[in-house]
Amino acid sequence: MIDLSRRDVMMAAGGLAALTLPGADVRAQPGRKLGYAIVGLGGYGLGKIIPEFANCTHSRLAGVVSGDRAKAERVAAEHNLPARSIYSYDNFDRIADNPDIDIVYVCLPNAMHAAYTIRAAKAGKHVLCEKPMAISVAESEAMIAACKAANRKLMIGYRCHFEATNLEAMRRARAGEIGKLRYFRSEHAYPQGDPSQWRLKRALSGGGSLMDYGIYALQAARYMTGEEPIAVYAHESTDRSDPRFHEVEDQIEFQLEFPSGVIGSCLSGYSANQNHVLLLGDKARIEMEPATGYAGHRLWVGNRRDTEITPRPGPGKTQWAGQLDHLAHCVIEDREPIVSGEEGLRDMRIIEAIYRSARERTRVVLA
Ligand code: NDP
Repeated sequence: MIDLSRRDVMMAAGGLAALTLPGADVRAQPGRKLGYAIVGLGGYGLGKIIPEFANCTHSRLAGVVSGDRAKAERVAAEHNLPARSIYSYDNFDRIADNPDIDIVYVCLPNAMHAAYTIRAAKAGKHVLCEKPMAISVAESEAMIAACKAANRKLMIGYRCHFEATNLEAMRRARAGEIGKLRYFRSEHAYPQGDPSQWRLKRALSGGGSLMDYGIYALQAARYMTGEEPIAVYAHESTDRSDPRFHEVEDQIEFQLEFPSGVIGSCLSGYSANQNHVLLLGDKARIEMEPATGYAGHRLWVGNRRDTEITPRPGPGKTQWAGQLDHLAHCVIEDREPIVSGEEGLRDMRIIEAIYRSARERTRVVLA
């Protein structure tokens, strides 16, 4: 079993406690791993998620959904999946008839998240959907409603909530180790090359670096402080003559105002390389760099970078195994995931406010 107790206490203390849904009717048979179908065999679904089932204790690969039949057959063969567990986007809804598949993991371009989450819920499957949850608040609400109507769990792929260094930093911030929190800063940026990729096409991405990387800074601002922002102010800087940025933003800087007086200052970008979180208290500071990457996280607590901390182990062998097993565990125990659809919706509301603030050059108050 994964150790959720420490995490649940932290989330409750921070005001991010999850809601509880009515009982689900799917229970795992003892010893049975829950079956995931991966939708979208791209860099993340195929390159990162599928290999992680080897590190899981409650989860296994049980199906693949792809527009590329040959690739899907190759992956299925590598993982001993039967032909009936290979789906295309057209016949995806037939997944309803496949008892091996309990959970659908949506690893598609952002603008496809809502449609496949809703189709999966209608097919009676629980859903793990990648970040950003969708490309609008309206879509996010529809996804939550569809999962509620089908009595299925919905979790968002916020893997940092299962990553040991981030959990350690959160725990120390919440325990008051650096005193009263005053200031949060985070820069998340990664250079993009090919102008034709979906990330740079608004119809598929819904937006630029904010949707992709800035969301990590926003998430960290919320889980490190344990507070919800009450207002945002944003400023965008994009070279629109650059063929990569004809449709979406490159740099966007956003300030977050928190009720306690903490100021959050975040930068998101597609033309630099930075992955950093800094939290200042009135007694000391917490710093992570790289903060939210795949590996190599480092954490310092104290003054400047004089004391490096080795985190306690996280809930899974890796952040991905922790994430996959968490949802399986939530289904088995009929518990709400710690990063539920509602958590993704909170981010989408703030993201829409950030874009509005940048567009209108005004401070936007969050309801
Ligand atoms: P890729 O472009 O590498 O893969 C996307 C896959 O989606 C494609 O390989 C394809 O799979 C399928 N697809 C279906 N329709 C389209 C289309 N019109 N254009 C492009 N692809 C299509 O993207 P990523 O895997 O990097 O990203 C997928 C999702 O995962 C995004 O939402 C992203 O934000 C998220 N992500 C999350 C990360 C995290 O750390 N949490 C890290 C990286 C990504 P097929 O050929 O099988 O049909």
